[in-house]
Amino acid sequence: MNWGITGHTWAVSQLQHSLQVGTDAQAYLISGVAGIGKALLALRLAQALNCEGSPGEPCLTCRDCKRIERGSHPDVRIAGMTSQAVGLKPDEAARQKELKIATVRAWQHDIALRPYEARRRVFILHDAERLNEEASNAMLKTLEEPPSYATLILVANSTDLLPTIVSRCRVLRLRPLPRRQVQAALVAREVVEAEAAMLAAWSGGRIGWAFGMLDRPDEIARRDEQIAALLALHQGESGAGMRWAEQRAKEYRGGEQELVFAWLELWQGWWRDVLLTAAGCPEGVVNIDRRRELEQSAAQHPLPNAFSFATRIGQAAQQLRENGNPQLVLESLVLHRP
Ligand SMILES: [Zn+2]
Repeated sequence: MNWGITGHTWAVSQLQHSLQVGTDAQAYLISGVAGIGKALLALRLAQALNCEGSPGEPCLTCRDCKRIERGSHPDVRIAGMTSQAVGLKPDEAARQKELKIATVRAWQHDIALRPYEARRRVFILHDAERLNEEASNAMLKTLEEPPSYATLILVANSTDLLPTIVSRCRVLRLRPLPRRQVQAALVAREVVEAEAAMLAAWSGGRIGWAFGMLDRPDEIARRDEQIAALLALHQGESGAGMRWAEQRAKEYRGGEQELVFAWLELWQGWWRDVLLTAAGCPEGVVNIDRRRELEQSAAQHPLPNAFSFATRIGQAAQQLRENGNPQLVLESLVLHRP
């Protein structure tokens, strides 16, 4: 039954087998892009470790499985940027970029306690790629000698962690699912075919992201508005472009970097689609709801121009990550738009 998870079958069978033969690890690192299904896999592993049923097969119906699912099991502890932000004002929470040593210390204090009632105490740490140096070093100590009754599961959007941390974990790198698998899973949840196809294309194989969008119709509308705004930039005079760059730079400096990166990702995705359309590979296109505009763009812009602008967007994102001046980087990008 694949633990009630869509896809990632190889990861489930690997974990299942190790639990059945008793070769499970004490520390795991589950990595992969945001929204790919890491949190669900971590939760299922916690359930498999403590389910009353047969080993390696979380039944999802017993008392332990249910309490773990609800987040109310005393022996399954979950921490991350969200738990670290509890009690903070929204703007304070938005400014938090790292997992702090205090969060790791609280976790370690908890790890020292024996299980209350379960077989194993399970610790899930989300956003592990955001451990700062001090917190990483503290975490390393726990990973070197975890108590025999504990299983640690680090969940991270990348494996960009201290190599000494990665080497102490059994690493599961989750990959995006095929588009048709995401689409089928959405249809199985009674999403109408056309919407399922659109969300599956947009998701880039991130099934958690696709399911998340079902509860946020405003996000779908916002994405549509953003694409429209980006397309308008290619038509508009330079003043409009400069205003767009100024606005994004302001957001960036105001701590909303992720928002700006999302814009750039969307923009780059558009030009990737133009290239695919021009190259006659429409099956890889993400913005399937705007095929007509893609065809227009592909007809309008010579392939090398489209390619060089898509590359330039990636370079702009890289320059921002390397602390380039946001206003200059974004203005220069807008000035080069085809
Ligand atoms: Zn169970």
